[in-house]
Amino acid sequence: MAEEASQVLQKYFGFEQFREGQQEVIREVIDGRDCMVIMPTGGGKSLCYQIPAMVRSGTAIVISPLIALMKDQVDALRLNGIEAEFLNSSLPFEDQQRVTQKLKRGEMDLLYIAPERLFGGEGNFMELLKEIPIALFAIDEAHCISQWGHDFRPEYQKLSGLKKTFPDIPVVALTATADKLTRKDIAESLNIEKGKKHIASFNRPNIHYYVYQREGGNRQLLDYVNKHKNQSGIIYALSRKSVEELSEYLNSKGFKTLPYHAGLERSVRQSNQEAFVKDQVKIIVATIAFGMGIDKSNIRYVLHMNMPKNIESYYQETGRAGRDGLKSDAVLFYSRSDYAMLQRFAEVDGNEEQTDIMQKKLRQMLDFCETVKCRRQFLMNYFGEPHQGNCDSCDTCLDGAEYFDGTVPAQKVLSAIARLDRSYGVNHIAEFLTGSQSKKIPEHQRQLKTYGVGTEYDKNRWIFYIRQMISENWLLQNNDQYPTLHLNENSWKVLRGEATVWLVPPKEVKTKTAESSGTSIYMDSQLKAKLWYIRKDLADRLDLPPYMIYSDATMVELASYMPVSEYELSKINGIGSKKVEQFGSEILQVIRRHIKKEGIDLDMHRAQLKKTQQSEPSPKRGKTKKKKKATGTTLLETLELYRAGKSVDEIAKIKSVKPPTIEKHLTELIQRGEISPLEFISKEEAAEIQKAAKETGQELLRPIREKLDKRYSYLQIKAGLLVK
Ligand code: ADP
Ligand code: ZN
Repeated sequence: MAEEASQVLQKYFGFEQFREGQQEVIREVIDGRDCMVIMPTGGGKSLCYQIPAMVRSGTAIVISPLIALMKDQVDALRLNGIEAEFLNSSLPFEDQQRVTQKLKRGEMDLLYIAPERLFGGEGNFMELLKEIPIALFAIDEAHCISQWGHDFRPEYQKLSGLKKTFPDIPVVALTATADKLTRKDIAESLNIEKGKKHIASFNRPNIHYYVYQREGGNRQLLDYVNKHKNQSGIIYALSRKSVEELSEYLNSKGFKTLPYHAGLERSVRQSNQEAFVKDQVKIIVATIAFGMGIDKSNIRYVLHMNMPKNIESYYQETGRAGRDGLKSDAVLFYSRSDYAMLQRFAEVDGNEEQTDIMQKKLRQMLDFCETVKCRRQFLMNYFGEPHQGNCDSCDTCLDGAEYFDGTVPAQKVLSAIARLDRSYGVNHIAEFLTGSQSKKIPEHQRQLKTYGVGTEYDKNRWIFYIRQMISENWLLQNNDQYPTLHLNENSWKVLRGEATVWLVPPKEVKTKTAESSGTSIYMDSQLKAKLWYIRKDLADRLDLPPYMIYSDATMVELASYMPVSEYELSKINGIGSKKVEQFGSEILQVIRRHIKKEGIDLDMHRAQLKKTQQSEPSPKRGKTKKKKKATGTTLLETLELYRAGKSVDEIAKIKSVKPPTIEKHLTELIQRGEISPLEFISKEEAAEIQKAAKETGQELLRPIREKLDKRYSYLQIKAGLLVK
């Protein structure tokens, strides 16, 4: 049986190997046992029931709540030469009849069905199922059965009777939900507790995480999309209005985008979604209403213009990128003002408990944005999975924050606040500093000495630094409806020249490009363009999305390996025998012509390809190694200098980096047990810190630091927590 599964994998799906976890699950289900599969989006859940469906006799019944996706799933299977159909309310009556007849005759491998169609509708479908051979039941999006889940569907609860009615037929439940309570609930509700649970890692290594403080204006967004022209991306914004505005803005800059939000007519929403899925427009600007019902595998980036309300949503939304396994980005521009606004949304009237939970989750989202550690590690730990950090594919790993001595600009900000006759908000101070001619600044303020002393930065840059100063407690912002700025004790220290303010300049939105990340080694770009063109053409002819014809991952292999025969084509990942038969001749023709026209020596090309693959396995892996070594030696250097009795400031000077970077190193060294925490903090102080940690009930440093009125540095808090 195991061999049969491998054969199906190769013949129909065109894949050489199973991914982690797939084989175990498939074996269980083929042998007739229940199973639960928990894998992140893009992990490869579908094969876990599709292959047993082919190997076991009878029809597999796949229950899915996502009606909009069924047609796509069935289309994709049919392109692979697999007999599949679907039944839901969107299907005309005659088609429903046809499919039912086909089912009775045992002429299909898989039937996708909506739960309401299974239990309701004409004729008793459950009775019909008792009459025919069934290979298995697959319950997709199984978290819908749980009230704990984020997507509870009452009609899913009827599925709890399935195991009683069909005790001998294996049930495989699949979900991408990371929440333990929900997982347990699924197994119990479906009566499959005895079955194996396969929980895959939730890490999505091909998604790179970037988080930046949002500056005013759209410069960061424009920078990013400019560098990722021709790639598919989702841009999430908070409100319908901002979706419309952003979409128009990008269009005015020469990008082709469409908006998507709940305020648009249903038909408009549908056609905009379709245009995106079919690669007719590359960018969709949307509220979070967008995404549930799409399966597009070649989304290269998901960009949030605002902070999501919790990490679960962030993970789910960013998870839509890179299902095909190629390098993709999750980019987030956040600001403290998002946080303030979301805090108000998080208040549930009359339900304090719920409010608390939502606010805590929001807080953790902010912590994620502001962490100086590896983002991937933070995410994994949030979902209860260990991760060693240093992922080399998130902004904090790629460029440790570069601080500069911002005491002078900070003094300008603070003296402006001190001199003005009453309190103002961030905007006013920034305009005042830049000497803005805006009417909002009255004549008498223009006479002040500090008016216009900050022409070295523009308004947005000032806002950016003022926000940082607030979050580092160099000044206070009250929580009124129109928050205003106030000086505190720390501000006076800065004004008196007794403290140094370290600021981080806005980071360039630096992301690695797909080319530099090892996914597209040695690809002929001309051939690539030709292949992409023919794929689009084939897709349009069949009225299907291009990624369904061949995935982007498959395309990259085609353009680098250049198969010239049907046999070679069938060796490319993702091309099963049906796809050789259906599209092979046109694809091969493009490749052969290209080789001839360009006079490519195929043997030499392949030898070279092999060499690059062997000597530098992939640029990414090469880099990771180098980078790790570099961090290692700098840590070691810091340790040596520290042992030689140098202070943080001295070490920073010697290594020409900023003191906060050295503090980060030292924290790491304490954690690794290289330095005793007691070198930074007394036992009594450590006890106070540990007490505060217990009270905040969190491991995160910031809440603890705030609880202690920021009397200790992060380094000291970390040290304090590590004192035994
Ligand atoms: P999920 O349902 O978990 O989100 P899918 O089943 O849609 O994920 O699979 C995601 C992508 O991974 C698809 O493009 C699929 O073709 C691909 N894939 C799945 N299994 C394998 C495999 N063994 N080898 C290569 N690609 C695979
Ligand atoms: Zn990282």
